[in-house]
Amino acid sequence: MPKPDAMDRTTGFFKKNLETIPPKKRNEYLNRRLRGIIQYAYKYSVAVRNKLDSVGLKPKDIQSTIDLEKIPITKKVDLMELQKNNPPFGGFEGVPITELRRIYISPGPIYEPGEPEYDELGWAQGMFAGGFRPGDITINSFSYHMVPFALQMVDNSLHRIGCITIPTGVGNTEQQVQILKNFRASGFCGTPSFLLNIAEKAEEMGLDPKKDLTLRVGFVAAEMLPESLRSKLEEKFGMVIRQTYGTADIRCLGYECVKKNGMHIPDDKIVEIVDPETGKQLSPGKVGEIVATTFNKVYPLIRFGTGDLSILTETPCPCGRTSPRLLRILGRVDQATKVRGLFVHPGQVDEVASKHPQIAKSQAVVTRKENKDEMTFRIELKEEIPTPEKLKEEIEKSIRDVMKVRGEVQFVPKGTVPEGAKKIEDHRTWE
Ligand SMILES: [Zn+2]
Repeated sequence: MPKPDAMDRTTGFFKKNLETIPPKKRNEYLNRRLRGIIQYAYKYSVAVRNKLDSVGLKPKDIQSTIDLEKIPITKKVDLMELQKNNPPFGGFEGVPITELRRIYISPGPIYEPGEPEYDELGWAQGMFAGGFRPGDITINSFSYHMVPFALQMVDNSLHRIGCITIPTGVGNTEQQVQILKNFRASGFCGTPSFLLNIAEKAEEMGLDPKKDLTLRVGFVAAEMLPESLRSKLEEKFGMVIRQTYGTADIRCLGYECVKKNGMHIPDDKIVEIVDPETGKQLSPGKVGEIVATTFNKVYPLIRFGTGDLSILTETPCPCGRTSPRLLRILGRVDQATKVRGLFVHPGQVDEVASKHPQIAKSQAVVTRKENKDEMTFRIELKEEIPTPEKLKEEIEKSIRDVMKVRGEVQFVPKGTVPEGAKKIEDHRTWE
């Protein structure tokens, strides 16, 4: 086995025939699988049958991804309601409960039928594209209890690549540092903040993360990964960190490749970007809600609304993968709103802030005066500055550039914008 350093981590594919398939062929492939899962789920999943029946659809009406528009979107709250009315799985399960291998419980709580056999592609594709290779000794520091992520998805996917997993789970940072050192582990799976904890703990123990540890690749999820934190961690450990995106219910919906060029959509999912109000599909480049469909027969979620906003691109990626990509996650649908008829979303508030390093925290507040929408940016600065007027003008220009709507900047004292506050507060009343 080559040393972790000597491996080629930048070329190759996990499933070459699918990952490099010409886009037209991919559409045909996805349409064929869509027809298959709709046929299957209509027969075996009560919830899917009810969903199609509720709008007068039969499986033959769904021939291609474009036809998905006809099917209502199921949101997480709908899932909870369905589970309450038809326990335990809301009728979504596509096999009898006796055929399941595991049952998972996600926050909500939402009960999830677990795989008899795990065959999902996305996470393994993501790990490989991010540089994981056979023989990588890897700590998996996601939580193994109740939720499906660590055990079902990450553990199984590492195994499919040929990595050796150490199921460390959450916490015990000092011991995890020791384990990394003792096994000369090269892979990390976990949250970015836990990787930072590991770096700090290692330093506290008198170790240099780059020299004394051998981490080369990191697969992170479940948290936002600011570029500043990514480069800090990559620098500290001398490793490559790539992120993935998915939800507990519908799993992997995007992964970064070595080129760090947005998130490739796995080849066993259909991802639509839709207008959150109408559910209609939007063309690439437009901001909308991520709605996904899986081919998983055990848990056939058809048109699941994630509540997350993103943009799709179909421009080719230099890595050679031909799948469309989600450019980035732009916040939650319930935090997006319209100001003077224009759709504004939390990702834009972050984008404005990222252009001005002096900003510590920011929040947009939308109000209505004399039947006109007004938007104010409440901004906390890292430190007081001598000429706030100039900065005010510069930020207001950024707001116009990014959001296409005028907004007024208001500098507020530290602590005014609460921790975990919504990026956009809508204070309008409609009477
Ligand atoms: Zn790529």
